[in-house]
Amino acid sequence: ICITDPVEEHRICVCVRKRPLNKQELQKKECDVITVPSKCVLLVHEPKQKVDLTKYLDTQAFRFDFSFDESASNEMVYRFTARPLVETIFEGGKATCFAYGQTGSGKTHTMGGDFSGRAQNASKGIYAFASQDVFLLLNQPRYRSQELEVYVTFFEIYNGKVFDLLNKKTKLRVLEDGKQQVQVVGLQERQVSCAEDVIRMIEMGTACRTSGQTFANASSSRSHACFQILLRQRGKLLGKFSLVDLAGNERGADTSSADRQTRMEGAEINKSLLALKECIRALGQNKSHTPFRESKLTQVLRDSFIGTNSRTCMIAMISPGMSSCEYTLNTLRYADRVKEL
Ligand code: ADP
Ligand code: MG
Repeated sequence: ICITDPVEEHRICVCVRKRPLNKQELQKKECDVITVPSKCVLLVHEPKQKVDLTKYLDTQAFRFDFSFDESASNEMVYRFTARPLVETIFEGGKATCFAYGQTGSGKTHTMGGDFSGRAQNASKGIYAFASQDVFLLLNQPRYRSQELEVYVTFFEIYNGKVFDLLNKKTKLRVLEDGKQQVQVVGLQERQVSCAEDVIRMIEMGTACRTSGQTFANASSSRSHACFQILLRQRGKLLGKFSLVDLAGNERGADTSSADRQTRMEGAEINKSLLALKECIRALGQNKSHTPFRESKLTQVLRDSFIGTNSRTCMIAMISPGMSSCEYTLNTLRYADRVKEL
């Protein structure tokens, strides 16, 4: 007899989001090679050529927990991905949500949103929606009496080093104690008491993340950004929600670059994305061994990959254009492996 625990069944959720073609792509008359025929299926129509030079489209199908097409809003994506994980932290668990994909595919748009045009066009991302729901739950009768407090942290992992985005990019040390507890020493935890407080923190951290970057060589495409919502009860950590905007996965291929620094960063990104995949798979399969020591990213998130009440969600972001086809297929194959049990 096979009895599956319904909770375990939903520990891992893997989704895909297609962004619309942007202005430049439309100007260049780029073809959209992605279709989403139903709420779980996504098709890639890859242009190919036969030996006799006749062209054809090779269609590959992928199935995920959800597939979002270009008409989906951030709020909609949030509702089906991170939203179900908010309760987890109130039950004393750890939740993680990852945005994975090529640079320019919409990871930061989805996670951080865009507050640059604050007044009218400010669009919230998953950081803000999740925080908003944390405050909503906190004020429900069943939690109001529990003396819960909310804190946020925001840091960046760049080339295996941790920098505090809420404290002038201070470089932080990561220590593992005898009980295998991992600590980011000195990481600022800012107490927040409403959704507006959180938005200020997101803006502050985002400005810190992108300061001093030139567009062409933006280090944000080479770093993982992690925004955490901590729930404390009389000082003691109850639950934690880690929302991660991962480094562009195409950077993992920079391992043959002529520039040594770029090569090393590429190798580090590659290593961390591979380790992440293995850690999520280990969580999904309830494995006792989780290879979290393989990278700084997985080490810092260690407690989210173990324990009985850990849940995770990955959103694979894809660009719709034909010129991104190869990277898109790489992204979808990676996401496929994450969900595969
Ligand atoms: P990434 O963080 O993956 O490198 P961004 O989130 O910065 O990519 O997105 C690249 C550009 O595309 C940004 O200008 C962003 O506003 C835009 N964009 C991304 N996703 C969407 C979407 N779903 N709808 C509209 N614009 C989007
Ligand atoms: Mg980004």
